[in-house]
Amino acid sequence: MTVDTVGVVGGGQLGRMLGEAAAPLGIDLVVSDPTPAAPAARVAEQLVGGFDDPETVRALAERADVLTYEIELADPDVLERVGEETGTSVHPAPKTLRLIQDKLVQKRRLAEAGVPVPAFRPVASVGDLREAIEEFGAPVMLKAREGGYDGRGTVRIDGPEEAPAAIEAIEGPAMVEEFVPFDCELAMMGCRGDGETDAFPVTETIHEAAILRETVSPPRVPESVRERARRVARDVLAVMEGRGVFGIELFAADGEILLNEIAPRPHNSGHWTIEGCHTSQFEQHLRGVAGLPLGTTERRCPTALSNLLGTVEDPRPATLEGRASALATDRLALHWYGKDEVRPLRKMGHVTLPGAGASPEELLGAVREARAELSA
Ligand code: ADP
Repeated sequence: MTVDTVGVVGGGQLGRMLGEAAAPLGIDLVVSDPTPAAPAARVAEQLVGGFDDPETVRALAERADVLTYEIELADPDVLERVGEETGTSVHPAPKTLRLIQDKLVQKRRLAEAGVPVPAFRPVASVGDLREAIEEFGAPVMLKAREGGYDGRGTVRIDGPEEAPAAIEAIEGPAMVEEFVPFDCELAMMGCRGDGETDAFPVTETIHEAAILRETVSPPRVPESVRERARRVARDVLAVMEGRGVFGIELFAADGEILLNEIAPRPHNSGHWTIEGCHTSQFEQHLRGVAGLPLGTTERRCPTALSNLLGTVEDPRPATLEGRASALATDRLALHWYGKDEVRPLRKMGHVTLPGAGASPEELLGAVREARAELSA
């Protein structure tokens, strides 16, 4: 079947960058988002409605040849039902979204498949948490099983005395993990097409307070570690069902790779591919969900990226400042997400710096400097 229109649940920055990638492929994008004039609305048609609202998802399915989602808050049951009733296929498969939405279920399934993960267990009480601290040793990471993102829903616990407050801070069911004393964090975008799988080159990801700040590819780890990461990505992709791209977040510790978590959609750690690879993760996602051949995942050149985060203390209307100064940097690419409101640490945009011949340190230094010219 020819896919002319792709429907996307979610119209944030990921929907916007999908829209930018769709036009040259001759694909129209329709997104659904509860916030009118969402970031993607400048480049796509928007239906206004909740991510889990069956009527909105049905309207989206009726407008589109295939459905996908750019946010984990999409409802797998609604997607599955609407898909069955309208005959519009949904990618990645709703059951894969369901699996990923619950961090405990996700870790169990991947561990069963032989993917190396940090030691983990479910937590229902302060007693469970204290037992886990005893078993794993402090510190540990307490995580909400569902709904966490950008560090929200993740608490580091340094000793048993912190257990009651930590349980209080996490709403709903939780799990606990051993703390991984990683050398660095890595990520890769895996891709599943129609009978083919692939992965983009490994990226180093730099987090601060559990939020992604910068990425650089190639990462500053030996080839043997990159090869391990590729192998883990292959094993992860074998567990996923349906087509599209998957963000695979990893820890590198002592030459070993451990899986942190997966996102069944384009991911911040893959934004660098827009300038840094021959095919961007957004084009690849569209190729995948539309059943087109996947593009090459080859890197064009070493590339660094820095996120522009909200630095305000209270929400206020957003304005992009410093554009001219930042763009004076040779080869710098700016991506402003067009959000109306800036909030503390909200992702407002990013800058990317591709640089043949430059070291990762040089690229990271230059991209940080350019980003510092900007504010939201
Ligand atoms: P989110 O879903 O909010 O992105 P993650 O589970 O990915 O939450 O955790 C966010 C960050 O917290 C990670 O990128 C990492 O820096 C840190 N982190 C998470 N789990 C662990 C762990 N087991 N050991 C050490 N650091 C961790």
